[in-house]
Amino acid sequence: MGKVLVLLYHRVRDYNDDPQLLSVKVDNFSEQIKWLTTNYNVVSFDDDWDNIDGEAVCITFDDGYRDNILYAAPILERYNAPATIFVSTGNIDTDRELWWDELERNLLIPRNCPKEFVLEDDVFGYHFATYDNAQRLETYKSLHWLMKDFVTVDKREKWLGALRTWNGIDETGRKDNMLCSSEELKIVNHKIIHIGAHTIHHPRLSTLNNEEQFEEISKSKEKLEQLLGYEVTTFSYPFGGKMDYTNESVNICKQLDFKRVAANYPGVWTDGMDNYQVPRNIIRDWPIEIFKNKIKEFWEA
Ligand SMILES: [Zn+2]
Repeated sequence: MGKVLVLLYHRVRDYNDDPQLLSVKVDNFSEQIKWLTTNYNVVSFDDDWDNIDGEAVCITFDDGYRDNILYAAPILERYNAPATIFVSTGNIDTDRELWWDELERNLLIPRNCPKEFVLEDDVFGYHFATYDNAQRLETYKSLHWLMKDFVTVDKREKWLGALRTWNGIDETGRKDNMLCSSEELKIVNHKIIHIGAHTIHHPRLSTLNNEEQFEEISKSKEKLEQLLGYEVTTFSYPFGGKMDYTNESVNICKQLDFKRVAANYPGVWTDGMDNYQVPRNIIRDWPIEIFKNKIKEFWEA
């Protein structure tokens, strides 16, 4: 009976700061892929998994950062390892960062910002102290939590706008944090890099009503299909934890004819398991010996 260990990456780059621990350094990534391809059958997320014999691994990326194409794709090509990138489409061909990166740019980059950030709207009223780095880090964490779990996309945008005004900075994001452009998505080697959908605005689906969920999921699929000219058959739930999506999210994915959908909690896919909530195991910036141990642990969990 076939078993697939699905791995979840976000970014591959030689980073300095990474508050969400999303990045794997290029050398570590290269070693990881070399080891995986030497020791496992590497299957693609959109493959038919019915006839897998024994243990296989599957490589996926969430969000669609440009570094996936710049640094990860050449390594994946070198080792002939297929991978699926789930792209959040809202920022394609813009110079905006994803919302958590913009939040980071506002609060964790050293600059002369005011000593307090006052957030006021129809529901929320908070005074965040921003006097020093420790306070700004606390403010970043609180706002990240509120923006992820409690507010709509519109409100999130308003709050980011208020932060930019407060800081006197504009929307233009850091180059290092851009997503893939439509051109890059089109010309990437599609034998190796497969593209899946990941909503438009990367909301926590469980905070949306059914129509809003449908819009976020279906429009991201359509946008990618227009761009690529082929059917997009895979999706991953933003954040992907059991509380981050609902039964309705699963139903919408079935209705839209996705073939397989990725969640984000540890586990191994086995034959007969739900293809609309495939467990994935997050990979961090681990040197190869730690990586090997983690892979072993993931199989045993
Ligand atoms: Zn994501």
